[in-house]
Formats: sequence, C-alpha cells, structure tokens
Amino acid sequence: MDIRSVAGHELIPGSVIRDYLCVDKTELRVPYILICGEYPGPTALISAGIHNAEYVGIQAAIELSCELEARCLHGNVFILPLANRSGFENRTMSTVFEDGKNLNRVFPGDPNGTVADRLAHSIFEAFIKNADAYIDLHSGDGYEALIPYAYYLGDAPAEAAARDMISCVDVKYCVRSRCRTKGAYNLASVRGVPSILIERGQLGLFSREEVEADKADVRNILRHLGILEGEGSRHPKKELLEYSDDAPYTGCWYPEKKVGQCFRKGDRLGEIRDYFGKILFTELAPDDGILLHQCSSLNIIQGGPMITYGVEIGSDSHWTDGG
Ligand SMILES: [Zn+2]
Repeated sequence: MDIRSVAGHELIPGSVIRDYLCVDKTELRVPYILICGEYPGPTALISAGIHNAEYVGIQAAIELSCELEARCLHGNVFILPLANRSGFENRTMSTVFEDGKNLNRVFPGDPNGTVADRLAHSIFEAFIKNADAYIDLHSGDGYEALIPYAYYLGDAPAEAAARDMISCVDVKYCVRSRCRTKGAYNLASVRGVPSILIERGQLGLFSREEVEADKADVRNILRHLGILEGEGSRHPKKELLEYSDDAPYTGCWYPEKKVGQCFRKGDRLGEIRDYFGKILFTELAPDDGILLHQCSSLNIIQGGPMITYGVEIGSDSHWTDGG
C-alpha cells in the first residue's frame, strides 16, 4: 500500500514520529509511533493495550518503538502501544473507563457512538486501514490464566498471508478463529488485511522473558514481511478450534485443571459454589481438549468468562460450541 500520510503526518523516509491520536469529541489522547523506513516496503501495524491490563504486549510495544530504527526498515512500522489509555490510567482491568465497554468488541467502531466506539473508529480509520499487515498483542486479563498461543481468522481474504505470519510466532498452538465481527484483528482480516493476534502473559503480570518473547515474535514476522532484513524462522504448531464456556452463576470459582493441561471428556474442570460453600455447578469437559485460558480469580460472574479450550483440527472428536 502506497501511503503518504497518516494521522495528519507526512511519512518521510528515515523519520520517526511520536504523537497522540486525538479522538473526536472525547478527552482521549492515545500514543502512537510511526517509524518510516529509509527504504520502500510494506507497512506493518502493531497494537497493544486494547485490553489495558494485558501488560506483556504493552511493554513489548513500547520497547519495540524505541528499538526499531528507521534506517534499517524496508517499509513502515506503526505502533500503538496503549490503545485503551484511559482504562490503563484508571486500572479498569481491560474495559474502556468512560463507558465500561470492551474495546475489542466494538470494532470497526462508530464516530457517533460512546467513547469506546469513537476510539475504535479512530484506530480503524487512521491505522488499520493503512496497514499491509497487522499484529495485535494480548494476554490473559487480570483475572485470567493463559498459555501463549496465537489466532488467525479462517476463511478470510488474506488467510494464507496471515497463516504465514503466524508460522513465525514461537508458540505451540494457534487457533483458527471463526469470529468475523467486533475484534480489531478479526475486522481487519475481513477487510483483507493479513492479521494475527498473539496471546502471551496472564493475571495482570509481566516478565522480562515474556516481553522478550513478544518482541522476538514481532521481529521475526517483520523479517518474514521483508521490513527487517534477514529470514523469518518458522515454528510448527498445532492448529485448534476454540470453544468457550461462560459462567452460569455468580459466586466463587474453583478450577481443577491448569492452563495448558489436556483433559478427557467427562473430566471435572471446576466448580462454582455459593458464599456458604454449597456447590452450585460442576463444569465437566464436554469432550477431549486443551485448556487455553480460564478464570483464575476466586470470584466468577454469571455470563462472564470461565474456561476457553481448544480441540485440534482434524481430530475426530465431536465438539459443539460451548457458548
Ligand atoms: Zn485481550
């Protein structure tokens, strides 16, 4: 894509622009960095902090924005290190502070909607539409344990290119998503931008190892795209379909498996009890699978996330969507 300007800035080869995206009719000032390569090439967008309590990607994006050098790039790298800034500064555990919405459920946004809708619209128009490839960095939320894995959207116009990108990510599993709405990378994929989402980190924590792993994955993808020099290395992985079970009750949650553990049909996965200790619900595995992420706080909320698991594509299990 031959783009000359982004968010009001002319893209001058060899330059780096640090500025804030001003979202119309809000107080939001969202930081971004445009690294304009010395040499021509494609444009990659890296976003983090769409969920503000997912710190590994936020820190990785900040460090990449300081470390990637315009003089070394064949193309451009746009970085949004903290998309949901107001959530971060008010410690909301991943919803937009002003309206309580999950930013990753409102893309491509609405210029006449609430703050989250307007923010998504601004990000989509300024950055996602101008990208040739998109990497969105996430983690488990503040209450979620999670093993590292990555998503791409199946049956999307740029599916093959997205699968190529995901082959550069150093994780054991990837999920072929069927969700075509509301998420940033999902909508980008539907619109033809090769896009992936990397999950790494959990429970409102971050470590040096995880930040370095996110950065290594992004650099590897940039090599694969030809934006950084060198060959992108490939990491074979198992492909999964993903299923989720939301909590049927509000109360106390006692998970019985760890993320990354495989389970068999009928295994106990956890219990919900009331505040007198009485069992309200027992979660039994509907089939064989692997636990990708799960609620790990004592409290659990009716209709909210409880467990998400994967089943290997091509296995002969008969799975149904867990809801
Ligand atoms: Zn997230």
